[in-house]
Amino acid sequence: MAEPAYLGALDQGTTSTRFLILDRSGHIVASAQQEHAQFYPQPGWVEHDATEILHRTLAVIDQAFAASGLRAGQIAAIGITNQRETTVVWNRITGQPVGRAIVWQDTRTADAVAQYAASGGQDRLRDRTGLPLSTYFSALKLQWILDHLPDPAAAERGDLLFGTMDSFLVWHLTGGVRNGTHLTDVTNASRTQLMHLEQLDWDPELLALFRIPAAMLPRIVPSGALHGTLATTALAGVPIAGILGDQQAALVGQNCFHPGEAKNTYGTGCFLLMNTGPARTSRHGLLTTVAYQFSGQPACYALEGSIAIAGALVQWLRDNLGILERSDAIEALAASVPDNGGIYFVPAFSGLYAPYWQDSARGILAGLTRFTTRAHLARAVLEATAFQTRDVLEAMEQDAGFPLQRLRTDGGMVGNDLLMQFQADILQRDVLRPAMRETTALGAAYAAGLATGYYANQDELTANWRVDKVWSPRIPVQEQERLCRGWKKAVERSFGWLPI
Ligand code: ADP
Repeated sequence: MAEPAYLGALDQGTTSTRFLILDRSGHIVASAQQEHAQFYPQPGWVEHDATEILHRTLAVIDQAFAASGLRAGQIAAIGITNQRETTVVWNRITGQPVGRAIVWQDTRTADAVAQYAASGGQDRLRDRTGLPLSTYFSALKLQWILDHLPDPAAAERGDLLFGTMDSFLVWHLTGGVRNGTHLTDVTNASRTQLMHLEQLDWDPELLALFRIPAAMLPRIVPSGALHGTLATTALAGVPIAGILGDQQAALVGQNCFHPGEAKNTYGTGCFLLMNTGPARTSRHGLLTTVAYQFSGQPACYALEGSIAIAGALVQWLRDNLGILERSDAIEALAASVPDNGGIYFVPAFSGLYAPYWQDSARGILAGLTRFTTRAHLARAVLEATAFQTRDVLEAMEQDAGFPLQRLRTDGGMVGNDLLMQFQADILQRDVLRPAMRETTALGAAYAAGLATGYYANQDELTANWRVDKVWSPRIPVQEQERLCRGWKKAVERSFGWLPI
């Protein structure tokens, strides 16, 4: 019988769940996708129904597999990538979640963050976990769930299990209440704020600090390893051999395997990750996170910077100002003028993140004159994403101590040529778009493929990576510096807007 020729990738995202079947060169053979409900029970709260996500997961696996026309024996392994930090607690006897999952965007733990930061400051856990205290990470979400249990002793008794979405799905997919495997990979664990960044294990002092019973935690495993076997769906019997958080999966899918290699995902917001090899603590407000760990190898680390508003500003122009019919119409409008006409748009809608960390900043449009048109506005909107990316990258290079060679890109905005050219101009470096844009799914499949010997080594993956397009800087450095001065001036004007 011929050896299995394909890999599966489950991409459990914030708004939808997808399953893709890929061939050896990373091409998509079949895929299926289902959205799930978002619950907003109070301002700042965001929840998911983990059981709904499980059912959608099972459905998309079966749908994509049926569409592929393959036999299960032709799939070598599957990899899983997932929305990070989103926190689920479930009952090991019934398999049912205890309430809804608390999503990464949820800010209900803001008061707890302030309390913990009151002694020792917001960075008190940074050296140990790579993360500042924030509503973003899982520990305080888990604490909130435990504090609101109808039967508070259940967790201590070991009846309850904690996990991020990868854990919850792997437990169910490998047998659930019968003999489900309870684990999580190092990249997901590094976003809980309960793992020691260097030791790659749960830290007893952090568990005590956040009042988390060790009995409910999954085992931490490398990203690429034999994690278990699917016990359900048409793919029953196929190994699960890769798990990576979504942004780390994109880094792997982009083949950023060497220190200094970086990718930026341009979606609603931007997520910029740079491979640093060993862990580097940030002094500029970036996160230190595990990038990946392949079985038998040391963990590789990354610095991460996030930008809250990128594509979201294009949506805002479309939905709030009605200047655009569709998001992709922005390019033609912006291209109808030769430059920004001297205006800058700082989209500090909910403050500014890395590297500024200004909660009280608010959005600002600077440099307006009677000459300004909506085309200049469209241009300033696109340029804002490129300037913000440069700010994060500058901080990253200072933290890492070495420069970035070139930036690899993916996400919904990278179809925009004008933005990508401006990005190269403003970074004064090459910006690359790969032929295979589904980098998140690809990274999960790669981790599974490496762990099962489907791929011999990382070099084989690197050989797979094909450039679709490269943008090189076209403007002189003096012009780039002038534009960046304008941007920085506008950024400073946005600081301290609140309170009025
Ligand atoms: P996410 O994964 O965060 O939902 P996507 O990667 O699908 O986002 O990207 C969607 C975002 O990209 C939207 O905010 C949209 O406004 C923006 N976008 C899509 N096409 C373009 C384009 N051609 N130019 C600029 N922005 C775009």
